[in-house]
Formats: sequence, structure tokens, C-alpha cells
Amino acid sequence: MIVCKFGGTSVQDAEAMERVAAIVKQRIDQRPAVVASAMGKTTNGLLNAASLAADGKRQEALEVLSALKHHHLSEARKLGLAVPGDEVHETVTSHFKEMANIVRGLATLGELTPRSMDAMASYGERLSTLILCHCLTSRGIPAELKDARQFIITDDNFTRAAPLFDLTDSAIREHILPDINAGKVPVIQGFVGSTRKGITSTIGRGGSDYTAAIVGAALEAYDIQIWTDVDGIMTADPRVVPEARRVRVISFDEAAELAYFGARVLHPATILPAVRRKIPVHVLNSFKPDLEGTLITAEALPCANPVKSIACKKGITIVNIASTRMLMAHGFLRVIFEIFDRFRVPVDVVSTSEVSVSLTVDDTSSLWDIVTELKKVGEVSVEGGKAIVCCVGDNLRNTSGVLHLLASAVRDVNVLMISQGASAINVTFVIDEDQLGRCLRYLHDVFFQEVDPSIFD
Ligand code: ADP
Ligand code: ASP
Ligand code: MG
Repeated sequence: MIVCKFGGTSVQDAEAMERVAAIVKQRIDQRPAVVASAMGKTTNGLLNAASLAADGKRQEALEVLSALKHHHLSEARKLGLAVPGDEVHETVTSHFKEMANIVRGLATLGELTPRSMDAMASYGERLSTLILCHCLTSRGIPAELKDARQFIITDDNFTRAAPLFDLTDSAIREHILPDINAGKVPVIQGFVGSTRKGITSTIGRGGSDYTAAIVGAALEAYDIQIWTDVDGIMTADPRVVPEARRVRVISFDEAAELAYFGARVLHPATILPAVRRKIPVHVLNSFKPDLEGTLITAEALPCANPVKSIACKKGITIVNIASTRMLMAHGFLRVIFEIFDRFRVPVDVVSTSEVSVSLTVDDTSSLWDIVTELKKVGEVSVEGGKAIVCCVGDNLRNTSGVLHLLASAVRDVNVLMISQGASAINVTFVIDEDQLGRCLRYLHDVFFQEVDPSIFD
């Protein structure tokens, strides 16, 4: 069997859902399980409605919901669904009634907890899969709507809950295998799960990719297909570098680094369950289903280019800690990392000098608490508005002179920190955010002027 995951753009409207139906139909002999995201930008809309409500803007929140309801019903109607009285119409209407009740509750309480954000956000995928499932059925595909909350079991770290694999893996098999064996196509919400107590949770923004990999691993699928809106993993984000080329084959390690350093095309955690079972992952374009996309494999293939792709992340803050007294002292770095750890804030890039340590974070929600703690060990300064650029390639391990090439590519850019990743397959640096576009284009010119045709399109 295979898992086919369709992202937001790939199910954004009636036309997109028709494309999905055609893709699934073509693969019916491969016994697909379907995982889908919310339609278009629905998740943003739902979270926006929740936060408006908690800010006391109840009416505005209800208007956001009403626009979303209109979109879902009108796209479903274009598919021949959602006529008053049918299941799609009734369920969509009742989901929106429940959401309006949540909005009223939030407006009364004036408070938005991660748990209520998840309750709200989950409706996005519950709506999209409802419509998609009926769309598939009406196009002759024996689809079966599943409720991911019965088998994606998570801890209660709401908004980025971690799946509990010992419970989840067996629950997936129990709930999904009978359908597959009966020749049905299960349609599963990405991103959504529930705690052991049955409270709705979500596994982090962009998490539908992760759901696909979790389901694929539990069912021992032979292929996990991530259907999205670009031709595959590209040499850079094509929205920033229009000349970006498709990478035909990339290793799990390389894809994981790219995802971690901001290439949104794949959720960083997606790779883990697939690696564990050595299941190939394909990234494919739902607008051009005949393109071969990108294949992610266990081992990197030989490649003449040192870099496979360049990732970037905006909205980065540098935290500098200077301490002549403490820096060389035993355990100083540990003390610093423990502080970040206590506030559950991951650090992306680290560089040290004789008198200071610089770290980058993208989550600044606890920054001032962290700074207060750090001030106990040294002088602290904070600089916002930065970006991380990360060049990834298995060949970076053995290519000498890459730093020289890099230096020439970024000659006009003010590089604030640089680090060759511990994995040796990335070189990462930090620059001012406003230089990002220019820097990426320079780098792309240098590294991809000529490409190895066995690896790049
Ligand atoms: P989906 O909704 O299908 O999950 P996402 O928006 O999460 O899609 O991810 C796809 C987007 O990732 C693309 O539209 C593209 O702008 C962005 N992206 C960033 N880096 C890359 C890259 N190296 N290759 C391809 N796409 C990338
Ligand atoms: N709908 C969720 C989000 O927008 C999950 C996903 O699309 O992967 O983050
Ligand atoms: Mg995504």
C-alpha cells in the first residue's frame, strides 16, 4: 500500500479536489491511504478567528467563520455535494455551529489556551476530509472517512503535541488496515490527533506531512507521497529564487536538514518515521501529476555539485552572551543550554568566540524570561530581524574550498554568524533579514550555474 498526502493548496477548492480524485483513481491498484490538510489557508483563518474572539472582537471572529463556511459550502457545491439535507451540508453546518460556540466561549473568557487553539484548528482538516471523501466516493472511489483522533494519540503539549508511538502505531493498524484490506480508501485528517483522554490536539503547523509518515510507517507502506504545489524539493524556495531547479533525488539526512532550516516543503519530523522503516518518500506536484518529483532515499547518491539545496528561515533573533569571567569555565555552555531547554526553546545556530557565545532562536515567546536567566551568567544582548541561510549537501563532507566559494557568493552580504553543522552536510550562516533575497540569488548562481544532470532537472 501507499500513503498519498495532499497539502492545503492541493485541496484548496473544487478544481483541486478533482485533481486529487484523478490522482487517487490512477493509483487505486496500489491501495492508497489518503491524508489531507485543511483547504487552502483555512488553518490560519480558524486560528485568527480564535484569537480575535479572545481579544473581545467576537463579531469580527464570527465574520471570519462565516467567510470560511461560505468557501467550504460553495466549493463542495461545485463538486455536486452540499445540497441542503445531504450529509456534507449537514455536517459542515454543524461544524460551523460548534466553532461559533467556541468563538462565543473564547470571547466571554477573553483567553486563548493552546488547548482551545487545537480544538478550533482541528475543524480545518475535519472539513476538508469530509468534502474530499464525498468527492472521491461520488467519482467512483470507495472512500471511507476516518477520524484521526481515534488513532493519532499524542501527549498533551497542545499546538505541537508529540505522537505516542506505542499507542499510535497499533491504533492505526487497528483502524485503517481493515478498510485497506476491504479495498477501501481511508481518508484521514492530517495534523490532528487526540490525547489519551480523548482531547483534540494538533501535532504542529505543517504537521500533515508528519501524519502521512506516521501512518505510512505504521502500515509499512512501500511509498509515502507528499503531494504539494511545487515540482518537488527544489534547489531553493522557488518563490524566492524563480530559477530554482528540481532536485531529483535527495537523502533523508539532507531533506531533514533542509526541513529543519526552513524549507517548508516538508515538515521536519516527517523524515523520522520513514527513516525508521526505510520507506521512500516522494514529493510531487498535484498540479502536474505526471512529473516525477523528488525521491528521498536512505543513502545520498554521488553528485558533482557540493550543494543540493539552500534553505532559509526568516524572523530569527540572535542572543549574545558575553562573560570573560565564566566563558572558559567548565559547564558554562551547559548552563546556557539548560536555560533555553527549560523554556522549551530550540536553538538553531551556535557560534562561540573567546569572550562570547551567540545563539539563534526563532521562537521569542519566552525570550525575556530567558534573558533574565542568562543575565545571571553574563552580559546579554539581543538582535532581531535576522535570517538563517543553510546550504545542504552530502558532498559538503568532502568538498574542500566550499567556504571560499561561499565567501565569494556572499561578498556584499554582512555575515553575522557562521557554522558548519555538526552533521558536516550543511554550512549555515546568519544575515540581516533584508539581505535575504539577494543573498539567496547570489548563492544559487554560484552553486547551481552548472548542475549534475543525474541529480537535478
Ligand atoms: P503544502 O500545503 O502542500 O504542505 P507548503 O506550503 O507547506 O505546502 O510547502 C510547499 C512550499 O514550500 C512551496 O510552495 C515553496 O514555496 C516552499 N519551499 C520552501 N523551500 C522549498 C524548496 N527547497 N523546494 C520546494 N519548495 C520549497
Ligand atoms: N493545516 C495545517 C497547517 O496549516 C497542517 C498542514 O497543512 O500540514 O499548519
Ligand atoms: Mg506543508
